[in-house]
Amino acid sequence: MADRFFPNEMPDFIPETPESSASERSEDSLTKLLSLPYKTLAERLNRAALDLKQTVVKETWGSSGRRVHDDCILYTGVLGTAFLLFKAYQISNNKDDLNLCSQIVKACHTASRSSGCVTFICGQAGVCALGAVVAKHSGDERLCDQYLTKFKEIKLPKDLPNELLYGRAGFLWACSFLNKNIGKDTISSSRTRPVVDEIIKSGRRLANKGRCPLMYEWHGKKYWGAAHGLAGIMHVLMDMELKPDEVEDVKGTLRYMIKNRFPSGNYPSSEGSGSDHLVHWCHGTPGVALTLVKAAEVFGDEEFLKAAVDAGEVVWNRGLLKRVGICHGISGNTYVFLALYRLTGKVEFLYRAKAFACFHLDKSQRLISEGKMHGGDRPYSLFEGIGGMAYLFLDMTVPSEARFPAYEL
Ligand SMILES: [Zn+2]
Repeated sequence: MADRFFPNEMPDFIPETPESSASERSEDSLTKLLSLPYKTLAERLNRAALDLKQTVVKETWGSSGRRVHDDCILYTGVLGTAFLLFKAYQISNNKDDLNLCSQIVKACHTASRSSGCVTFICGQAGVCALGAVVAKHSGDERLCDQYLTKFKEIKLPKDLPNELLYGRAGFLWACSFLNKNIGKDTISSSRTRPVVDEIIKSGRRLANKGRCPLMYEWHGKKYWGAAHGLAGIMHVLMDMELKPDEVEDVKGTLRYMIKNRFPSGNYPSSEGSGSDHLVHWCHGTPGVALTLVKAAEVFGDEEFLKAAVDAGEVVWNRGLLKRVGICHGISGNTYVFLALYRLTGKVEFLYRAKAFACFHLDKSQRLISEGKMHGGDRPYSLFEGIGGMAYLFLDMTVPSEARFPAYEL
C-alpha cells in the first residue's frame, strides 16, 4: 500500500439509466451501480448498511456480553455503535434500533463516569448529549432530564486545549447538538459564551498579531485540520453567536488558510508544514472543505464557496483513500461531495458522492481481504471502521439530509 489513495479512474459523469437497459450491457459492476436510477441504488445502499450495522452490533456489543469494557467513546468505542443505531432509527423509524441505542448509551454512561474527557467525540459530553436526545425520541422525559443534569455538571478544566477531539470546541459541539435536537437554549449562552470567550482569547494570544487572526496549538503543533486544529475550531465557532469582531477573525483565519494552501490545492496538516500527503477529514483538505461549505452557508461569501469547490477537486483526485473510515477513509471523504451538493444543489456533486460510495460498496471489502486496503485499527468503529461505512450508506439514501457524523449539525 505504497500510495495513500487509489488513482481515481472513475468517469467524470455517468447518467442514470433504467435498470433493465443497464443490466443488458456488458459493463463492469461499478459502472452498472453508477448507472442505476437513484431510488434503486439507495435501496441497495440501505440493504448493505443494515447488513453492516448487524455486524457492527454483533462485534462491538453482542460479543462483549452486552457490556462496556474499555472503550465507550464515540470515536473508537461502542458509543459509535449507538450513534449508528440512532441514525438507522432516523432513516427507518425502527423502534428496535432506538431501544438498543438507548441500552448501549446507558451502559456507556455507567462506564464513563470517571472519564476526564469533556467532548462529544471522545468523552463524557457525547454520552450525556446522545443519551438526552435518544431519551427524548423515546418519549422518556425523566431520563432526558437526568442526562441533561449530568451534562450540565460537566466541568471544563482550566488547561483544556481548544481543538475538537479533546478540547473546548468538542464540548461546544455537544451543546449545539443538544440545542438543535432538544430545543433552542437547552444549553444557554450563559454556559457557552465563557467557553467561546476562552477560545477566542487563546486564539488571539497565540496569533500574536501574526498574519492569521486566530491560532491554536495541540501537543506543540499548530494544526490546521478538523480533528485537532483550525478547521474544526472555526467550524464549531460558526454555530455560536459571535460578536462582529469575532466573525471577522473567523473569516480572516479562513482567508489565511485559503491563501496559504499548497500549490496542489491541498491544505497543510499544520502551520508551516511542507508535507503535502494527507487528504483526510482529520488532517488535510476534506475537513477544511466542510468548514468552507459551512462558511459559505453562514456568511454567504462567494470566496468561501469557490474555495470549497476547489477543495472538492482535491478530494475527487486524491481522496479515494485506501482506508474505510470516517476520520481518514473513503467514508469521511464522501461527505465533502454531499456537503457541496447540499450547498449548491448541483447534480455533479451528488454523482461524485455516489461514485465514492459505490466504489466502497463494490470493492472495499474485497480489497481489504486482499490486503490492498486497510480495514481500520478498530475495524468495527464509527470513525475508523465499517461503522462509518454503514453510516455513510444510510446517509446516501437521503443525500440532501446527509451530515458528517458528530461534526455537521
Ligand atoms: Zn483520522
